[in-house]
Amino acid sequence: MNFTNSARLNSKHVLLAIISILIFGCKEKENESIETAEEMAVLEPEVYEFGFKIDDFIVKRDTVRKGDSFGKILEQNRIGYPQIYEIVTAAKDSFDVTRLQIGKPYTILCSKDSLQTPRCFIYQPNLEEYTVVNFQDSIYAYSSRKPIKYVEKTVTGVINSSISVTLDEKGISPVLTNKLADNIYAWTIDFNRLQKGDRFKVIYTDKYIDDTIYAGVHDVKAAYFNHNSKPFYAFQFETDSEKHIIDYFDDEAKNLRRAFLKAPVQFSRISSRYNLKRRIAYYGYALRPHKGTDFAAAVGTPIMATASGVVTESRYSGGNGNYVKIRHNATYETQYLHMQKRKVKVGQFVKQGDVIGWVGMTGNTGGPHVCYRFWKNGRQVDPFREELPQAEPISDSLKVKYLAFIKPIKEQLDSVPFDEIEDEAPNENMITYNYN
Ligand SMILES: [Zn+2]
Repeated sequence: MNFTNSARLNSKHVLLAIISILIFGCKEKENESIETAEEMAVLEPEVYEFGFKIDDFIVKRDTVRKGDSFGKILEQNRIGYPQIYEIVTAAKDSFDVTRLQIGKPYTILCSKDSLQTPRCFIYQPNLEEYTVVNFQDSIYAYSSRKPIKYVEKTVTGVINSSISVTLDEKGISPVLTNKLADNIYAWTIDFNRLQKGDRFKVIYTDKYIDDTIYAGVHDVKAAYFNHNSKPFYAFQFETDSEKHIIDYFDDEAKNLRRAFLKAPVQFSRISSRYNLKRRIAYYGYALRPHKGTDFAAAVGTPIMATASGVVTESRYSGGNGNYVKIRHNATYETQYLHMQKRKVKVGQFVKQGDVIGWVGMTGNTGGPHVCYRFWKNGRQVDPFREELPQAEPISDSLKVKYLAFIKPIKEQLDSVPFDEIEDEAPNENMITYNYN
C-alpha cells in the first residue's frame, strides 16, 4: 500500500516535471510551487517537503562542509563514481554542481529499505529556493520555491520610552520599527522625540515559508500614530502599477515623504533647538542666538544628507570644525557642523539619506553632536517650524482612486481597539492568503 502510493506519486512527479521542463522551461518554478501548495492543503496530515511525501523516504539532512563536493557527498552516501558522473552530466543544465556553498543545507532522500539507496539530492541555496536532483529512475534536476504565505496582523501599542521598546515587549521584530521610523514616518514624525503616551496601530504582514518558517515582517499596509495628540495616518498605495512604485499617503492623500528628513542622524536626541533668544550662563547670560538644531549622538555616528543636492562647501573652519553644506534647490540649503570626518567633496551630488560624514566634536563644541543648520533663501531658519514641501503629490485623477482604496482599510484600522494590556501578542485574526 505504502509502495503503491509512493510509486504513483513519484511517477506523477516525474511526469509533471518532464512535461513542465519540456513545455515551460524555467517558468516551471511557479507551477511547481502551486502544485505543492495544493497537495499540502488536500493531503494535510501527510507531510510533504520539496514536493515529496517525506514519509516514503529515509531523510538525511546535512550542510555543505569545507572540502565537500557534490561527488564527495554522493560517494559518502554509497553512490559509485560512474553513476555520479552520469548524474552530474544529466543534471548539468539545471544544476551546476560546482556552485554548492559551504554552510548551505542539503537533504538526501533515501529508499526506505535496508540498502537506503539515495534517490534524490536537494540543495537549498536560501530559505525559499531549492534545487532537486532526482535520480530515482531517469536523472533530471529542477529548481523550485517553497510555498510562501503572508499573514496579515495588527499590533497596537502605547509609547513608554521608545517604539522599539514597546514593540520588543510584544515580541515583534525590530524590522517593523525600522520600517515605520525609516520608511513610512521618517519625514513626518521624529521617532527620537516620541512622547510618553503616544499610541499607534499598525496593520502589517508577516512572511512564512512552507507554513512554518518565520521569515520576518514583510510589509506595512497601514498605520496610525497619535503623536502629540495629533493623528498621523499612513496607507500604502501603488501609484504606478507598471513600475511598481509604492508610497505612503495620509488620510487626505498627502504624501508622507517630504523633501527633507526630520533629522540628519538616527537615534539621536535634540540637545539644543533653534533659538534666537538663547542666553548662555558661561557668557554671563549674554544673548547667543542658536541658529541651528543640535542632535547629540556618539562620535562616529553617520550623518545623512536630509535631502538630495550638490555639496557646495566641505572644509574645516575654526568655529564650525569639519562641516559640509549642501544646496538642494534655489530656495534651500542645509549645513552640518562639528563632524569628526567629512565624506563628500565640493561639487558632489548626494541623495537624501546618503552618508556625508560622521558625528564628532571638531570646532567650537562641548560634546559630540551635529549642529544642523537649515537655510531658506540665504537665511537660517528653524526647519521644525517650516511647512516643508511634499515629495511627489498624488495626482487629482489618482486621488479619487486612492480615497476609495483606503476607505475600508481606514475603517479596519479605526476599529482596532488600543489594548491597554502591555504584554499582549499581535492579533492574528485577519486574512490569510497565499502567494507563489
Ligand atoms: Zn548648534
